[in-house]
Amino acid sequence: MTAPALDDSVRTLRGVGPALAEKLDRIRIHTALDLLLHLPARYQDRTRVRKLAALKVGAEALIAAQVRRSRIAYGKRRSWLVEVEDDTGYLTLRFFHFNERQRKSLQEGMWVQCFGEVRMGPSGLEIIHPEYRAFPAEPPPPPPTLTPVYPTTEGLAQKRIISLLDQVLDRLDRWQPPRIDKFLDDQAFADLRVALRFLHRPPTTATESLLDQARARVALDEILANVLALKRSARARQQETTVALPRAQRLGAELLRRLGFELTAAQRRVATEVLLDLERDRPMLRLLQGDVGSGKTVIAAFAAIRAAEHGRQTAIMAPTEILAEQHYLNFSSWLAPLGIEVSLLTGSASRAERRARHAAIARGEVLVVVGTHALFEKDVEFAALALVIIDEQHRFGVHQRMALRSKGMLPHQLVMTATPIPRTLTMALYADMDVSMIDELPKGRQPIETRVVSAARRDTVIDRVARACARGEQAYWVCTLIEESEASDSRGAETTVAELRARFPKLAIGLLHGRLPSAEKARTMAAFAAAEIALLVATTVIEVGVDVPNATLMVIENAERLGLAQLHQLRGRVGRGERASRCILLFAPPLTAVAQERLAVIRRSQDGFVIAEADLKLRGPGDVLGPRQTGEQVFRVADLGRDANLVAEASMIATRLLDTAPQLADAIVGLWSPPSQDYANV
Ligand code: ADP
Ligand code: MG
Repeated sequence: MTAPALDDSVRTLRGVGPALAEKLDRIRIHTALDLLLHLPARYQDRTRVRKLAALKVGAEALIAAQVRRSRIAYGKRRSWLVEVEDDTGYLTLRFFHFNERQRKSLQEGMWVQCFGEVRMGPSGLEIIHPEYRAFPAEPPPPPPTLTPVYPTTEGLAQKRIISLLDQVLDRLDRWQPPRIDKFLDDQAFADLRVALRFLHRPPTTATESLLDQARARVALDEILANVLALKRSARARQQETTVALPRAQRLGAELLRRLGFELTAAQRRVATEVLLDLERDRPMLRLLQGDVGSGKTVIAAFAAIRAAEHGRQTAIMAPTEILAEQHYLNFSSWLAPLGIEVSLLTGSASRAERRARHAAIARGEVLVVVGTHALFEKDVEFAALALVIIDEQHRFGVHQRMALRSKGMLPHQLVMTATPIPRTLTMALYADMDVSMIDELPKGRQPIETRVVSAARRDTVIDRVARACARGEQAYWVCTLIEESEASDSRGAETTVAELRARFPKLAIGLLHGRLPSAEKARTMAAFAAAEIALLVATTVIEVGVDVPNATLMVIENAERLGLAQLHQLRGRVGRGERASRCILLFAPPLTAVAQERLAVIRRSQDGFVIAEADLKLRGPGDVLGPRQTGEQVFRVADLGRDANLVAEASMIATRLLDTAPQLADAIVGLWSPPSQDYANV
């Protein structure tokens, strides 16, 4: 039999049967290597025996003491009490679950070494259910190393993980991980095996800072693998050919004349970047970043026009029906005068309607199709898809990037973000893309005055909003409830709209939530856009993209529940015209420290990049991008909040590896096997 390898299943480890394998599976451990990369969450200091007199309530401690008395107490709950002493004091060990064998092992006069959290019991200090070992005489000194504590799942004991790792670590020397020493600045843990052993079995010399260094080495490797996979797929894309879309009829210039506003310098620069990409026969994959309201949509229109000039199709995907509908109206008004037909495709169209539209798309009669993800269902066939535009991307998973093939070719792709993404996250998660940035807002935008107000003053706020609406302003009232679901938010919006209509019968108040029929949603949005509705009570369905420049006032209920990116997005619905806007963030006290900080950030700043960086610091990448986006499931060790400083290094190493040592690059990607970037087919 060959020696077991690290990529063998955990079932090759002694003592792992189906039941244990199933538990390991729950924490996504399938191979011996997965175990090796399953790092301790923290360490316990069991290196020193504490004297009983020196114990502190609430702290974990290792003690060595002699059993003075063992008895069963019949109180509210039957328990076994073991009173122990050392030369400084007394302590009680309390067990609610115990058996005869245990009781024999801890009889009077025996010694015990145990570890647990010290608490104040009815008759002095005690430890409930300590981990313990019995000794006939005074126990030997404990091993002088820190004890790892692993992330685990129900029914999987620390001891078990530790003993499995013993077996895995035995295989470590036979393992040859990719060596990247010469690419690393810091040689301390250049050998990945040294870092891993150090983390699983910290030697006596281990300090917090050394453990941090070792962990950073492993995290670097993981980030590197991810960046490599992305850059590799970018290079593969460079080998593909697709349809080139050079300058043609200059319909874009025609739109520019008709727009009614001048593009900002940033919009002009970015439009040029996109159009130059389209001129090449390499498939574009470009990330368009820009703050809320910076005017990303019109860039998409120029790109779609370029494709249409060549008789090629563009698919524009929006994350919500409301936004798809709005884009449809916008694109139609921009493109129809140029003779380019636009079609809308969402899940809620009737079957007959859908079939007719599918047919028109398949015959190539419609050149621009706006829709939700329904655009990319199997039965939609494009005759000549050349360009895919994905708007407000933070709703779509990073790794479900719409890398679609059409007729065997990759179309050009433009991905537009909902909110700015911190630079480090862009480098780590979008390393396969070229990035364009609109870093300027259209002229004349007024700052939004943001106030944080306790829900205790909700009534006053309601009156003020109603008065403003009566004066001709338009306002959003955004409902979020305590339970996290669109259903409960919808109920909240319904209650609120009833309340407001009863109080202000003369005011035109609309209701918008995700569970209304699509046609009704579209009607309501149109009425609000036409100023027939003064006050729109809505759930967070209006979060992304919705653009009604007349609206100047927004109230967000339970704002403390929302993340910074979401608040920034929502607030971005106002302040889109030239009139000054206000945003009132209602919160339900008491506020946690983090919520307080979050609301302070949003009140102080209106710059999406500043807000995103603050979010990353406050709460980590999961909340900056939404859990599906962050790679939180992608990364096992790395944390892009904490490890931001490793990203630039990983990015540099990745480029050098791909240029000079592609096999090494493959090995690193293979080791961490980040999700593949396979292309889906249209
Ligand atoms: P976002 O980047 O958030 O998607 P939009 O594309 O929805 O922003 O643009 C916000 C609003 O600004 C829209 O009403 C749009 O027509 C308008 N707009 C875009 N560019 C300009 C500009 N250069 N000058 C004035 N208004 C603009
Ligand atoms: Mg937008």
